[in-house]
Amino acid sequence: MPALAFLSQWRDRLPGVCAVCASWPARPVCDACVARFAPPVPRCRSCALPVPEDVARCGECLRHPPPLDACLACCDYAWPWPGRIGRFKFQGEAGWATPLATLIRSMPWVEPVLEQADLVLPMPLSAQRLKSRGFNQALELARQLSPRKMEARLLLRTRDTPPQSGLPRAQRLTNLRGAFALEPLRAHEARGRRVVLVDDVMTSGASLFAAAQVLRDAGAAHVAGIVFARTGRPDAARAP
Ligand SMILES: [Zn+2]
Ligand SMILES: [Zn+2]
Repeated sequence: MPALAFLSQWRDRLPGVCAVCASWPARPVCDACVARFAPPVPRCRSCALPVPEDVARCGECLRHPPPLDACLACCDYAWPWPGRIGRFKFQGEAGWATPLATLIRSMPWVEPVLEQADLVLPMPLSAQRLKSRGFNQALELARQLSPRKMEARLLLRTRDTPPQSGLPRAQRLTNLRGAFALEPLRAHEARGRRVVLVDDVMTSGASLFAAAQVLRDAGAAHVAGIVFARTGRPDAARAP
């Protein structure tokens, strides 16, 4: 094994070392890295895009309210997170679930949302994607956030969809129609419940909104999204 790879693995397994800058002793991610890379910023309550102070919802969500009652994101999808999330997701470094979940929990409103939830559902991967990747990173995060309420077999991804990027919003939503479903024998379990959907990265929001709509259609009383990182929306700059 190359020395650098060995050192990096060794570092990641050491207890008490910041997962980002490797300073010691530290919580999974040290205070300085949180302040630098995941500072709390005002975000739209429905889609978690950054908004100016005192603005509750972005223009797009005011015009087309998404089916989420609340949406919380820890940080922007910007350096160093794409690399860290990539290692978590594509290189199977499941140990990253702990620092990412710790950061998520430190966000304002996350604890109360998890406390009030009846069900915490990871955004599902299709069987095909799960097979090629070996694990679902959203499930690992959801398990860390709420092991007792996490339910991995209720919300299903019934089919993969072509890449969403570059498609206009309306087309992305059409693209995802029928991509999520509740396990038919258990669909009643969502009725009247408060549900939290968990994912690592929220890009356009189309997947999260499509899954939330399935839960709403099944009678869920409240649906919130909690994600680690949020990418900007290309059309966000034009929103009032
Ligand atoms: Zn650090
Ligand atoms: Zn919004």
